[in-house]
Amino acid sequence: MGETFEAGGYAIALHGGAGPRPGRDYAETEAHMLALATMCRDRLDAGESALDVVEHAVAGLEASGLYVAGRGGAPNRSGFVELDASIMDGPKRRGGGVAAVRDLVSPVAAARRVMEGTPHVLLAGEGAAKFARAEGLPFVGEPQAYYRTPVGVDPEEMTATDIAHGTVGAVALDREGRLAAATSTAGVFGKMEGRVGDTPLIGAGTWADADVAASCTGIGEAFILAGGAQDVASRVRYAKEDLSAACAGMLADVAALKGDGGVIAVDAGGRIALSWNSRGLKRAAAGAALEPFALTF
Ligand code: ASP
Repeated sequence: MGETFEAGGYAIALHGGAGPRPGRDYAETEAHMLALATMCRDRLDAGESALDVVEHAVAGLEASGLYVAGRGGAPNRSGFVELDASIMDGPKRRGGGVAAVRDLVSPVAAARRVMEGTPHVLLAGEGAAKFARAEGLPFVGEPQAYYRTPVGVDPEEMTATDIAHGTVGAVALDREGRLAAATSTAGVFGKMEGRVGDTPLIGAGTWADADVAASCTGIGEAFILAGGAQDVASRVRYAKEDLSAACAGMLADVAALKGDGGVIAVDAGGRIALSWNSRGLKRAAAGAALEPFALTF
């Protein structure tokens, strides 16, 4: 499935994961994503940078507890919530990520600090947590009290091993033509302790350059092996595919690797593509010439 929109001089698209289950009620997540897309559009309209807007959007999705990221994180097989996130600044070709980090309130904020405050692109585990602590970023007080079961998820599903469910992400184009992308997750349900998916990997879960920004969700192993978000940008750059064809082409590769999921992308011309090969994609978008909307199926 795919949708394309001409959003105009600035644009925002969000996703809340590719794991919605038919028959469940996603009114709460749709209302939340609509409000967030509207707020992001207003911030872009006021001249805020795409980088600030994608961080703000993903932090809002993380804090809500409605999705399997941040507060809605599902525990791994050992009973710990381990979080992954990344962010990329297109024009400066800078990126940062954190992987398998515990009890951080906003992994995307830590990813940005890695990008801006270290010579590295990715920090993992205890080292990432130490860095975030030293940066003064907030950690959850009492994990049992903090984490909540996301909307549309039965608690027993959180231990199943064969579904991906609810990574969050954002891509944006600002008034100055700059692109940025960010993605955050607690990973797939039933994952092994220490497992890292596509989300914190620049190129796999998240990509932004001067022409395209993309954020992925789905079975992370398949997205890593398909090249994920960077493959979308490469298809546009080298194969001259249009944005929606590039998203569909990457997802066809994911499907060939027995994965499913979705991708959101925006280009420097303000075109937004939302694509998925799963049962649905929690998604929202808005722009200078696009009224905010949010949909699930
Ligand atoms: N891609 C994420 C991961 O594999 C999961 C998801 O998108 O729901 O960790």
